[in-house]
Amino acid sequence: MNEFIPLSVPNLKGNELKYVTEAVEAEWVSTGGAYIDRFEKDIASYLKVNSAVACQSGTAALHLSLIQSEVESGDEVIVPTLTFIAAVNPVKYCGAYPIFMDCDDSLTMDTAKLREFCENNCNFNYGKLINKKTGRTIKAVVVVHVFGNLANMSEIMKIAKKYNLKVVEDATEALGSYYTEGPYKGMFAGTIGDFGAYSFNGNKIITTGGGGMLVAKSDEDLNKVKYLSTQAKDDLLYYIHDEVGYNYRMTNLQAALGTAQLEKLEEFIKVKKENYFLYKELLGSIDGVKILDFNENVRSNYWFYSLLLDSTKLRRDELIKELSKNKIQTRPIWGLIHEQKPYKESETYRIKKALYYHDTVVNIPCSSNLSTEEVCRVAKSIKNILLK
Ligand SMILES: *Cc1c(COP(=O)(O)O)cnc(C)c1O
Repeated sequence: MNEFIPLSVPNLKGNELKYVTEAVEAEWVSTGGAYIDRFEKDIASYLKVNSAVACQSGTAALHLSLIQSEVESGDEVIVPTLTFIAAVNPVKYCGAYPIFMDCDDSLTMDTAKLREFCENNCNFNYGKLINKKTGRTIKAVVVVHVFGNLANMSEIMKIAKKYNLKVVEDATEALGSYYTEGPYKGMFAGTIGDFGAYSFNGNKIITTGGGGMLVAKSDEDLNKVKYLSTQAKDDLLYYIHDEVGYNYRMTNLQAALGTAQLEKLEEFIKVKKENYFLYKELLGSIDGVKILDFNENVRSNYWFYSLLLDSTKLRRDELIKELSKNKIQTRPIWGLIHEQKPYKESETYRIKKALYYHDTVVNIPCSSNLSTEEVCRVAKSIKNILLK
């Protein structure tokens, strides 16, 4: 009997139970405790940065990044449309307006269009980028490293510098991905822009159940963000608060899980990479389908695999349905954000490729505990359905 093969599930075979038990036995279960410090230090050292701040979620990390980027009510932020909606919602939390950008063939932000938009649709005066159409100031750009691929950061950083934009890297799907060539060789996703946000949600490459992490170019920014994430306490004895803070700190229990998970990260990436190339080999010979590549100048974390069907929507949905009958879970790419109810009135700029990839990409099982046999079963099922 065939077992169910899920899309992406946690892999908890390391020191997770041991460390969580330790945290419980020490009776440090809340937002203080040794594992929080340890997890932050371990992540910082892995990413080769000075420090990191553990948060309640990736979304919280993104929200804090925008606050510290001085995104305020009535400002605008450039965002991708082809991504998970949590990359964009924090713009609304700040009372700001998103402007939706297209993706390129790597599924990350189209930097040619980004540059074009800044050049043609905006004025740059006194260090401020003003949207000609709305008269509002554009403060930042949120760049998502989709599925573990890396966006074109060298272009993005040039554009951001020219137009005085803060760069928030949404690296929630890309922990472990780094450049192997170019100006940022050796640098990890999330460590190039002004802020980098990571997520440890259940489906991410490592998990704390729910949780996130934030890094920043400036230590001052990072300290401020930590202060804001812990209720903005200015006096610990008398409870004096000079600003409105947030309850965004990670708990010691989550951090204990995360510490154990991080020990396994490189192992997970190795398995994911092997399975990715096995899928490529097994599906390579079928006409009209393709596993999307990761960028060449990148060591990806191979988080999610994208099967591209250069055909109709119907075939995509048919494939998903048929695979599900074979107890294989797959999923279409996210609903485009500019088409979602809260964002229907938002500004968009020449969105084209996102529409195409939205209709043609299916994510296939990619868990780090997926066996070779399971990859073969998925590939065989896909083949049978498509060649039917
Ligand atoms: C998972 C994810 C987030 C949100 O992370 P949470 O930890 O679930 O809040 C944000 N952006 C993208 C692109 C994601 O995939």
